[in-house]
Amino acid sequence: MALAEQVAERQQTLVALNRRAAARDRELIGHREVLATYGYHGDPDAVRAVLPLASYDLSAGFGLTGPLWEAEHGGQDFSAYAGEPLVAVADGVVTEVAYAGPYGLRTILTLPDGTEVWYCHQTDATVVVGQEVALTDVIGSVGSTGNSTGPHLHLEVRPAAGSPVDPMEWLRDRGLEP
Ligand SMILES: [Zn+2]
Repeated sequence: MALAEQVAERQQTLVALNRRAAARDRELIGHREVLATYGYHGDPDAVRAVLPLASYDLSAGFGLTGPLWEAEHGGQDFSAYAGEPLVAVADGVVTEVAYAGPYGLRTILTLPDGTEVWYCHQTDATVVVGQEVALTDVIGSVGSTGNSTGPHLHLEVRPAAGSPVDPMEWLRDRGLEP
């Protein structure tokens, strides 16, 4: 093969490699943007959790007592517009989608370590029991079903499917600033 041909061939290979790298960058930037939308700004390969909503106002915190709750408030409330998409905070499997009295329409996501994440008062759910979801996948939307005075997400985090812990701490431990 003539030297000129060899050079031309090598040039084409480089162009193809660059195109592939650019496509990979675009994919990665897209992924980064989605993670950032849900509050994660770190290394995409190291992500463990994201926030359940892209936009919200924090309302009632964990552990409060008052006339609204039979016992201590077992979760964190995120006020948001009705219909706002709720996303999986981590990879897991859907283990319940049902109306649950004061919790309204509730979806339970069970993580690989056995932690349950409860999404309560939903308007609707877009997942079914047994479905595997990845973090940032939409699972339903914000509502005001059950014992609720306005559209909001009541989020509970229950390690080993036991007593609830403060979702804010759980999220902060995963590099998020809710
Ligand atoms: Zn609540």
